[in-house]
Amino acid sequence: MTFRIQDAAGAEHVLPSVRDIAAEMVSVRHQIHANPELAFEEFDTSALVAERLRSWGYEVHQGLAGTGVVGSLKLGQGTRRLGIRADMDALPIHEATGVPYASRVPGKMHACGHDGHTAILLAAARCIAQERSFDGTLNLIFQPAEEGLGGGRRMVEEGLFDRFPCDAVFALHNMPGFPVGKFGFKSGSFMASSDSVTVTVKGKGGHGSAPHQSCDPVVAAAHIVIALQTIVSRNVDPRDMAVVSVGAIRGGDAPNVIPDSVLMRLTVRAYRPEVRAMLRERITELVKAQAVTLGVQAEVDYHWRYPALVNDEAPTRFAREVALDWLGEDGLLPELAPLTGSEDFSFMLEKCPGSYLIVGNGTGEHHATGGCMVHNPGYDFNDAMLPIAASYWVQLVRRFLQSA
Ligand SMILES: [Zn+2]
Ligand SMILES: [Zn+2]
Repeated sequence: MTFRIQDAAGAEHVLPSVRDIAAEMVSVRHQIHANPELAFEEFDTSALVAERLRSWGYEVHQGLAGTGVVGSLKLGQGTRRLGIRADMDALPIHEATGVPYASRVPGKMHACGHDGHTAILLAAARCIAQERSFDGTLNLIFQPAEEGLGGGRRMVEEGLFDRFPCDAVFALHNMPGFPVGKFGFKSGSFMASSDSVTVTVKGKGGHGSAPHQSCDPVVAAAHIVIALQTIVSRNVDPRDMAVVSVGAIRGGDAPNVIPDSVLMRLTVRAYRPEVRAMLRERITELVKAQAVTLGVQAEVDYHWRYPALVNDEAPTRFAREVALDWLGEDGLLPELAPLTGSEDFSFMLEKCPGSYLIVGNGTGEHHATGGCMVHNPGYDFNDAMLPIAASYWVQLVRRFLQSA
């Protein structure tokens, strides 16, 4: 199905400068889509982004987190500094959309719309550079490896905000199931933290017929699984969200052998940093205490992955006002509930105030396979959203870096 600007909510508000280049930026999106690259391997995508930004007059910095790109534009004497981030990586999924620009790489696919996010920010970058009507510094951040490998964290650790200080940073994500082109904002906790834990229960193996001569890690692991259920039900405030799931448990091979050890793997989620910290404390205490009671040893390897994504109030209000004043209530989604996924823009928000917003990707009317969620082999970014979302970034830049 072809791309039509008018399919998006608020399409009549698309800026003329964006409208002029929309078709070209959609073809850039298709080019990125057809050539997906996984985490930290976004060499061609990153080169494309850098080359375009340079051609429009941005000072381009490459190499942060390997394939990360930052394009900076400084105009006037203004001291305000704004960051906008897009993600560039694809997923290890075999595409099944059947679109003409489908992935040319078996087993790799842009199934989360990061091709769209990159094209949106590039379209905005071009219009902003043409207008040259702001006062201050604009840093456009194109990050690698959002999907699980923490490219955002690496950019921050490698000095993103030391080298490119920002007073606020913003990012958007498309969201299937919401009307295409409508904007959603949420102050406070918006996405969950996601941590993983490996527990190794070590006992003493032996013959299944003589348990008294061994120290059984299977029984201890069973007690630990049950004890872990009390954390969410007894320690977490009922008004808070938390998840502790034992997703894998491995030990032993034969019915008549007590194994030496059992391995367990957990996923742990929360919305609030305080709850996240408490979960770690309780999981560790509880596993150790159970082990002592049952005479085994237990090692807890706690892996902090992504923190909860917490939107700051003032930047979220600002981001919402930009959309509201420009599109009216009709352009906005109703108050959003927090999402249970996680997102490594959270690392940027830990260092810099800002807000992460969503834009509706539609309900599947834009392609033949119908509606589906991101990370599905049938998913496709909705091109009708590109012009309205690019116009939004232009508006946000104009307002945040207003000329005096
Ligand atoms: Zn994703
Ligand atoms: Zn994504």
